[in-house]
Amino acid sequence: MGFKFLKLASTPFRSGGSRIISRHYATTHDADLVVIGAGPGGYVAAIKAAQLGMKVVSVEKDESLGGTCLNVGCIPSKALLHNSHLYHMAKHDFEHRGIKVGNLSYDFKGMMDYKVKAVKALTGGIGMLFQKNKVKLVRGEGTLVAPNKVEVKGEKGVEVVNTKNIILATGSEVTPFPGVTFDEQQIISSTGALSLSSVPKRMLVIGAGVIGLELGSVYQRLGSDVTAIEFLGSIGGLGIDGEVAKTLQKILTKQGLKFKLNTKVMGIKKEGGVVKVEVEAAKGGSKETMECDVVLLSIGRRPYTKGLGLDKVGIALDDKGRVPVNNKFQTTVPGIYAIGDIIHGPMLAHKAEDEGIVCVEGIKGMPVHFNYDAIPSVIYTSPEVGWVGKSEEDLKKEGKAYKVGKFPFLANSRAKTNGETDGFVKVLSDKTTDVILGTHIIGPGGGELINEAVLAQEYGAAAEDVARVCHAHPTCAEALREANLAAYSGKPINF
Ligand SMILES: Cc1cc2nc3c(=O)[nH]c(=O)nc-3n(C[C@H](O)[C@H](O)[C@H](O)COP(=O)(O)OP(=O)(O)OC[C@H]3O[C@@H](n4cnc5c(N)ncnc54)[C@H](O)[C@@H]3O)c2cc1C
Repeated sequence: MGFKFLKLASTPFRSGGSRIISRHYATTHDADLVVIGAGPGGYVAAIKAAQLGMKVVSVEKDESLGGTCLNVGCIPSKALLHNSHLYHMAKHDFEHRGIKVGNLSYDFKGMMDYKVKAVKALTGGIGMLFQKNKVKLVRGEGTLVAPNKVEVKGEKGVEVVNTKNIILATGSEVTPFPGVTFDEQQIISSTGALSLSSVPKRMLVIGAGVIGLELGSVYQRLGSDVTAIEFLGSIGGLGIDGEVAKTLQKILTKQGLKFKLNTKVMGIKKEGGVVKVEVEAAKGGSKETMECDVVLLSIGRRPYTKGLGLDKVGIALDDKGRVPVNNKFQTTVPGIYAIGDIIHGPMLAHKAEDEGIVCVEGIKGMPVHFNYDAIPSVIYTSPEVGWVGKSEEDLKKEGKAYKVGKFPFLANSRAKTNGETDGFVKVLSDKTTDVILGTHIIGPGGGELINEAVLAQEYGAAAEDVARVCHAHPTCAEALREANLAAYSGKPINF
């Protein structure tokens, strides 16, 4: 690749209070593109750019590659969700299927070890992909010092990369709760919830959005008494269809999760070995103090741009702390781009990855297309929830005339055979043109099924298009087809 090692420099270090000046090598690299942050947005952008012939440097401050998603997000949470689901099935469901397991128990440390292995396998894989694609990894904190220059402070000292283009992909961090410090043992963020040393007896989850529901489910399945406290009157976070949210709440309640909606948290304190959470009705009124052993704060995430040096190049953040970009992911400074959790749009790994790819293609002069209406959202509870496009509430607000096609999993042969009949598929299509505007699934494999709906929506399909496509039988995907049939013709076949 021919990276240049050019400069000898000195940097002052402090040690034990006395000032020690140690000489060490600073390195200068030349690149076509520097990507700061190797989360799903950054690492995918780096690989794609290398595949398109660019000389790429990826800068990452954490020891492990993969960002939030692989280390403390999507991957560890899904490992715990999957295995706690298997345990829950073995305990509550196997017997009526004719499967006897005898004395059942779980080894929590074993579950955590499994999670660590799953994470390591994937984070290690990124290093190999970087090597294979000849992406140069520079470890350390990257700071913009000029529009074409990034300084990286790492264990090796300071390295400087001169570059034609820069992509900022520094992701997000947990939104703090005013006046509360995370000890990650009793007052925990999602990161702490992924690494507890034991299963708490009582857990309060503040925020019944996607992360709160997923991690709350994990601990409820393992025996915790879990109550989710939510300011809003419904669960599931932004964008979820109201009918799906209500159904999900009903199903999770049946599983043992408790909910306290329309409730705001006024204060949290540790006292006598327990955590006390003061709550009040969201609209004012009745107050109460709730007690638990562990409180999980999952009220959201905010963009992370600390130490990035945006001010040095003249990039100002918007009112939500995000880096403003245009539809080619260009910031206000030519040659500097931004993607992923630090810009607008939902904070999702697949959104960050796709932005990374099209941003790089744009740098190479290729067309940039990104359809924010076709980004799927999934809640990996049991059953899973998946949706794409508009909810009924969105369409009502927009005053758009629409048709509804619904099909329950109770009438789907595969779901019935598997004994997984909770939920339905709901398709919303334009009343005049039949073009699909949104698809909402709650049911078995909802997180996989939604991808077919995304494909249809991305290609501007009508409900009739999906209804006329031959689907394998018996599969849960037939429920999606039937919901499209119901939207287009008014009547499904099997219900
Ligand atoms: C518990 C949890 C579960 C989640 N589950 C899902 C899920 O199931 N599906 C989904 O789509 N999304 C999920 N998410 C969200 C997903 O993790 C994020 O949307 C995604 O990781 C964003 O990718 P990114 O590349 O923008 O940033 P990040 O993944 O946050 O990566 C940013 C990287 O930049 C590095 N960095 C920051 N500043 C610097 C600097 N100055 N110099 C060098 N490096 C720097 C960081 O160390 C980090 O590695 C989940 C998140 C959480 C917390």
